[in-house]
Amino acid sequence: MIRFNVDDRQQPIRDMVREFAEKEIEPVAKELDQRPEPQKFPFDYYRKLAKAGFIGYPLPKEYGGLGKSSIEYTTLCEELCYWDAPTCLLAAVAVLATEPMCMFASEEQKKKYVPRCINGEIVPAFALTEPNAGSDASNQSTEARIEGDHYIINGEKIFIMHGDVATLYVLFGKISEAGVRDKISTWLVEDNGNNGIRKETLRQKMGMRAATTGRMWFKDVKVPLSALMGERNKGFRYAMATLDSARIGVAAQGVGIAERALQESINYAKKRQAFGAPIAKLQAIQWMIADMHCKVEAARGLTYRAAQLKDAGAKFGLEASTAKLYATEAAKFCCDRAMQIHAGYGYIGEFSIIEKLYRDQRITEIYEGTSEIQRLVIAGSLLRD
Ligand SMILES: Cc1cc2nc3c(=O)[nH]c(=O)nc-3n(C[C@H](O)[C@H](O)[C@H](O)COP(=O)(O)OP(=O)(O)OC[C@H]3O[C@@H](n4cnc5c(N)ncnc54)[C@H](O)[C@@H]3O)c2cc1C
Repeated sequence: MIRFNVDDRQQPIRDMVREFAEKEIEPVAKELDQRPEPQKFPFDYYRKLAKAGFIGYPLPKEYGGLGKSSIEYTTLCEELCYWDAPTCLLAAVAVLATEPMCMFASEEQKKKYVPRCINGEIVPAFALTEPNAGSDASNQSTEARIEGDHYIINGEKIFIMHGDVATLYVLFGKISEAGVRDKISTWLVEDNGNNGIRKETLRQKMGMRAATTGRMWFKDVKVPLSALMGERNKGFRYAMATLDSARIGVAAQGVGIAERALQESINYAKKRQAFGAPIAKLQAIQWMIADMHCKVEAARGLTYRAAQLKDAGAKFGLEASTAKLYATEAAKFCCDRAMQIHAGYGYIGEFSIIEKLYRDQRITEIYEGTSEIQRLVIAGSLLRD
């Protein structure tokens, strides 16, 4: 299928990912999806992605990244998701955790951590969500008290991508002094193996299984005052700025998944026979394919519009939320129609990729802000005085 390109930097990225996918992704994607519980983090595969430059892709050159534009990174995500969305997620999670360091950490912190996150030596995690702070992220219970020149941190985090194996957390919580709790702050917290961080891998995840998801408990974790990232009380702003950027990436995940669902449906409809002819001859099937195509094209347009604004240094929060909402719901639509077109051969995973696409897609409407939260952001932005 010919993809629309906003500019001529994109086609070489699409070609590069296709070559990488044929060699490195296709042989292992199914195996990673199906490995037994508790699913172990695929360290070797992760480092291969780091070596290919996928973690450093949008990150600054001075810290070991490739310094690519948002358009280019979006193209990388779209293409990786066409081949295997969890592979994209493995790299995107590292970007999600490293990008706020690039934006807000001190020079010393950047030099210490960013190059090692980019080369895969450190697995970082973005730890915002708690059992009672999901959409309502400001309701943080994680608390830090100051003792001399240290913070003592207590709290619990859940649903954190790579949280089960990370050795560096971009951790959000509130400073408490004399019984008064501040606004949200952010720390860069290392897990050295015996400093009070306990963690586990969450089981029975519906999709995106190559990348693992964790729950962590912080018990009297002592970190120096210098572990604070950026300024005290600015953590919520840092989280939201990070998520605005990451939402373009999730939109790209939706576009890539939707495209694959469409392409598989076209291929299948041409070869599957019913009543003596390919089902592609049936108007019912043609309409589904036409509707899928329209959604893919619209989703791609919105996604690159947001990326273009980001590259231009303009405000892009509204456009990122719009793209994320539309593209992830378009992906659901396309996976659902692909399942209908493949029917029994879609529902059973051993016959086609549709069952896996359907499972991988679902989280894109939940993480980095649910569809409902995107609608709130969009309406809030449009209705602001
Ligand atoms: C696989 C996975 C990976 C994740 N990765 C990370 C990660 O790396 N780091 C991280 O910090 N978090 C991560 N998350 C957490 C994710 O961002 C949250 O699950 C999400 O923000 C929703 O929070 P919640 O699950 O607590 O749902 P809730 O906030 O409890 O929402 C429940 C329902 O209520 C709706 N709702 C809530 N508030 C409103 C409102 N004001 N208006 C309308 N509807 C509303 C929601 O849309 C949803 O439908 C991950 C989650 C999963 C499942």
